Amino acid sequence: KIVICWLRRDLRLHDQAALYHALRSGCPVVPVFVFDTDILDDLEDRADRRLQFIHDALAGLQQQLLKMGSTLHVYHGTPAAAFRHFTEVYDVAGVFANHDYEPYARGRDEAIGAYLRERNIPFKTFKDQVIFEKGEVLKDNGEPYTVFTPYSRKWLAAMEPFFVKSYSMEKYFGNFHLQDERPIPSLGDIGFVPTQRDFPAPDPEDAIIKHYDQTRDYPAIPGTSRLSVHLRFGTVSIRELVRRATKLNDTFLKELIWREFYQMILWHFPDVVHASFKKEYDNIAWRNNEREFRAWCEGQTGYPIVDAGMRELNETGYMHNRVRMVTASFLTKHLLIDWRWGEAYFAKKLLDYDLAANNGGWQWAAGSGCDAAPYFRVFNPTLQAQKFDKEGKYIRKWVPEIDGLTYVQPVVNHEMARKRALEVYGKALKP
Ligand code: FAD
Repeated sequence: KIVICWLRRDLRLHDQAALYHALRSGCPVVPVFVFDTDILDDLEDRADRRLQFIHDALAGLQQQLLKMGSTLHVYHGTPAAAFRHFTEVYDVAGVFANHDYEPYARGRDEAIGAYLRERNIPFKTFKDQVIFEKGEVLKDNGEPYTVFTPYSRKWLAAMEPFFVKSYSMEKYFGNFHLQDERPIPSLGDIGFVPTQRDFPAPDPEDAIIKHYDQTRDYPAIPGTSRLSVHLRFGTVSIRELVRRATKLNDTFLKELIWREFYQMILWHFPDVVHASFKKEYDNIAWRNNEREFRAWCEGQTGYPIVDAGMRELNETGYMHNRVRMVTASFLTKHLLIDWRWGEAYFAKKLLDYDLAANNGGWQWAAGSGCDAAPYFRVFNPTLQAQKFDKEGKYIRKWVPEIDGLTYVQPVVNHEMARKRALEVYGKALKP
């Protein structure tokens, strides 16, 4: 008999809740990963960088496991087919996994849990990717928070060393199931092509985190941690990171709490995936002009900071947070294009794409979200550039033609667009 540890967004062998419990279960552990065709079939880009990131992470795990005489078992197909296969190949005494709060994942886990239960195989799941989940930080009356500041206060008050203690699991590494290597399918085998590999690596010195509050707003400098992709796929542990953040920089810690805030919102209000959190925002008469949307996607709006951001995104799969706010505001307010269009575009392109954070960020920018900026606060892209990219370094890097005569004319006039946004929003939100 063996137990399975099903890896999903927790691709590491250290400080990992489900794996820790699996290794202590008394049965040898088979670590498995499923290249889920229910997800992969929806990806348009066969050169999607996220697949490369995952594949590299799995190859790293495989190296560690082979040294211990074990192997990762990677399956390509639907989770349902994967578990039919695993239960045929192995005599399975239990399946261990970490919680995932996205609606798709919740449905998937319910279905797999039901399948396993029919076979009397327990499906055990654990909190791993956040410090506090679901109902762990609630208002005194038991309701979920919808405003960040009181949530973060409660989060900080609830925080004790216990919650950020690492699972120390190395002493149980003898409990992996010993078997010959099962090769990981190549990207080609699963229908994708290799891409760039220069993913940001976590910095063991935390040099950036130390000065984060002073550097985080300037896209021209390496002033943010670039850990988002690692947090997304679990190649770093949130417990270790929060311990370091607590020591090093309160502002950085606050960003990690924003991450949990949006995860919590998605859990309690899964409707935000399709609908505005504030319902009246779904009355807005979006213009949804396709030509303007294309200009935005391609970084051809004639607003340098917007275009720089979109080009950075298209070329690298990353965009600085300050610029994410500006580009998102520009799409929803200046062009009056439905936030869902922008959200979907970011979802396709972002290496660190995370449903909860992306949806939260978009609804914040559109004004429709919980604790969003009031709708009448419209970012002025020119002033934003002057303030946060004073020397134009970031802009010149991505929009070099700005120094010549070929740069496109603005797709809209700022003053006109601001007034139009106020009118259209005002009309929709009239009591
Ligand atoms: P740092 O500034 O170093 O922050 C550290 C970590 O804190 C991040 O890695 C991230 O996990 C978390 N974090 C920081 N800011 C936020 C935030 N506002 N909301 C939630 N978590 C946060 N973040 C994603 O991880 N995935 C997304 O798909 C995503 N989409 C966004 C869309 C829009 C429109 C906006 C405005 C923001 C979005 N963010 C998203 C939040 C933020 O922009 C990124 O987390 C950040 O830019 C990643 O770079 P970093 O790792 O250097 O962040």
